Amino acid sequence: MGLILSVDIGGTQIRAALFERGSTTPLRAERTPTKAHAPGVYDRLEALVASIWPQDQTVDAIGLASPGPLDPHTGIVIATPNIKEWKNFPLTEKLFARFHVPVFLDNDANLACLGEWKFGAGQGHEDVLFLTLSTGIGGGVVSGGRLMQGYHGLAAELGHTTVWPDGPLCGCGKHGHIEAISSGTAIARYAREQIEAGRPSLMDSLSTITSRDVSDAAAQGDLLAIETLARAGKYLGIALANFLAAFDPSVVIFGGGASNSGPALFDPLYASLRENIFDPTYLKNLTFAKATLGDDAGLLGAQALAVLSAPDH
Ligand SMILES: [Zn+2]
Repeated sequence: MGLILSVDIGGTQIRAALFERGSTTPLRAERTPTKAHAPGVYDRLEALVASIWPQDQTVDAIGLASPGPLDPHTGIVIATPNIKEWKNFPLTEKLFARFHVPVFLDNDANLACLGEWKFGAGQGHEDVLFLTLSTGIGGGVVSGGRLMQGYHGLAAELGHTTVWPDGPLCGCGKHGHIEAISSGTAIARYAREQIEAGRPSLMDSLSTITSRDVSDAAAQGDLLAIETLARAGKYLGIALANFLAAFDPSVVIFGGGASNSGPALFDPLYASLRENIFDPTYLKNLTFAKATLGDDAGLLGAQALAVLSAPDH
């Protein structure tokens, strides 16, 4: 049985690790700065893979987690906001030409979902909904024991679900997507706008505001911070009611920094979910969990994708 080589392409660093199938402890691991705006991102990635390639064992497959949008069926990165030189970039084809093993690719949120399912908070479930609340909102869905990828490979872009047609502008250019209201970036932006409009707050002395600052202020009883998180939670509850109606999971896993916002975010979220859910049966025996893999979710998800996709030797 051969090894699996996993790669996680992040905004600041590219990580690579060599695993035995099903192991969460890498045999070897290395990382290199992405330098996303400098030329040669692919060359750095290829050199990183070569640096941990085993001399005395077989590699069955390479699994790759990359920011999207991308097409997992063709292995082409359509575009990523960070890495400007990757436009319709044939990532898996190039790695296959160099290393001569099957290469599998999906976006980081889908693979975080897959990683949590196989190795983390989703173990034992066959229907998993994963939401990461960080600078953006990413999503992934495992349905009936399979990762949903979709016809174009663009399934489960849950952050770009419309919950408020006349709402704030999303980074993608459309209005009222849940990412534009409830991501960490959106939470911080709303708090800043309200302070600039003259609302009193403990945060008014801060030169920059993060979603963490909003959580901290809410914990100290700051009314604007509490309202900001309640607003984000209310719309997340609406989005989640939609996601439950679409996917009917047995576990909902929250990842990302803003998922640490505590009851100030989650109490309004659950209240809104109960208010908006089509039928209470969706909530019966539904588990809510926090992601457990942290920074390793992409690497482990990429391993899981390669294991599921590549036969044993
Ligand atoms: Zn959007």
